[in-house]
Amino acid sequence: MLIGVPRESAAGETRVAVTPETAKKYKAQGHTVRVERGAGLAAACTDAAYEAVGCELTDAAGAFAAELVLKVQRPNAAELALMKSGSVLVGMLNPFDAEGLQAMAQAGLTAFALEAAPRTTRAQSMDVLSSQANLAGYKAVLMAANHYPKLFPMLMTAAGTIKAARVVILGVGVAGLQAIATAKRLGAVIEASDVRPSVKEQVESLGAKFIEVPYETAEEKEAAEGVGGYAKPMPPSWLARQAVEVAKRVAAADVVISTALIPGRPAPTLVSEEMVKSMKPGSVIVDIAAGRGPGGVGGNCPLTVANQTVQVHGVTIIGETNIPATVAADSSALYARNVLDFLKLVIDKEAKFTLPTDDDIVTACLMAQGGEVKRK
Ligand code: NAD
Repeated sequence: MLIGVPRESAAGETRVAVTPETAKKYKAQGHTVRVERGAGLAAACTDAAYEAVGCELTDAAGAFAAELVLKVQRPNAAELALMKSGSVLVGMLNPFDAEGLQAMAQAGLTAFALEAAPRTTRAQSMDVLSSQANLAGYKAVLMAANHYPKLFPMLMTAAGTIKAARVVILGVGVAGLQAIATAKRLGAVIEASDVRPSVKEQVESLGAKFIEVPYETAEEKEAAEGVGGYAKPMPPSWLARQAVEVAKRVAAADVVISTALIPGRPAPTLVSEEMVKSMKPGSVIVDIAAGRGPGGVGGNCPLTVANQTVQVHGVTIIGETNIPATVAADSSALYARNVLDFLKLVIDKEAKFTLPTDDDIVTACLMAQGGEVKRK
């Protein structure tokens, strides 16, 4: 197939969907790969590196006109206009954006959103949420350390002892677990909260303490089980008790990394303004849920401002919405391998696109086909 790799146009997006490493594999499979000039530059993939593995360099129109277009983010209206009806699009297309899906369907695309893949063992190698959240969790801790006016580890020096930083992690999915592991490596003392009780063991195995909030009703227990490994919104009774426990830890914390998300819903509010006021001057919050709070405002903290670092009540609140883009070389390398693995499900041995009807991953990721939105 003719594969097109456009340069990402969304503000702050530095990643690329195909690296020279995966381009080489596509070439070996018999595809032609056309890369927009400069598409990989921000991810440390030079035009020369693509040419060295046999890619052709092109402009945006050339990349979007391919039979199979590989993207990081969803194409905008102008980019969709460059795409051919009947072509295949793979990317992080936002399955919850009904308007966006409609636009892709109207453009006649067969569109796959990789974020919609099930969280199963077979889908692990193409799980873009995991590959990117893992890096976000790591980098969030480094961002916090960079803004925090103290060190993370306990240090005993001739000039006195420095106390270890207290880090609170809210939401212990993929990003939260990596944040715990990273903060631990830096020497912090860590406590973590999640709605899912199964997380406790993982938190403890990384050397952190789990913030216990008992489930008192059948409704609370049922909600805590979540669905498909994901959290469901918890009843207000449980959230109120969680808030009391979290408030105590946040008041004593030096750093809070919040990662709590519920698919298709606003991020839960876990760090209120009152809690921020209770924090010590110089403390830092990194809100990975930035821009995803109620109405798209705030994140896990209502004071978070998307894509800004603000100082409120003496606390630094970091609202970077695309942390993986700050480590574009690694995030692109992992994302590009996710894409390569997904394509193995829809491209046959003759290097032709074939849509299996009985593959749960393909069915879950299929968002548009034949002019219709197909999202399951
Ligand atoms: P996510 O990004 O959707 O959410 C982050 C975390 O926030 C989750 O752990 C969630 O429980 C938590 N959360 C939601 N509301 C909260 C609240 N009010 N308070 C505290 N925490 C709250 O999650 P994710 O990182 O994408 O992981 C989702 C699930 O998928 C996890 O169970 C993870 O282990 C699982 N997973 C499985 C596989 C696999 O089996 N292949 C791969 C990746 C992830």
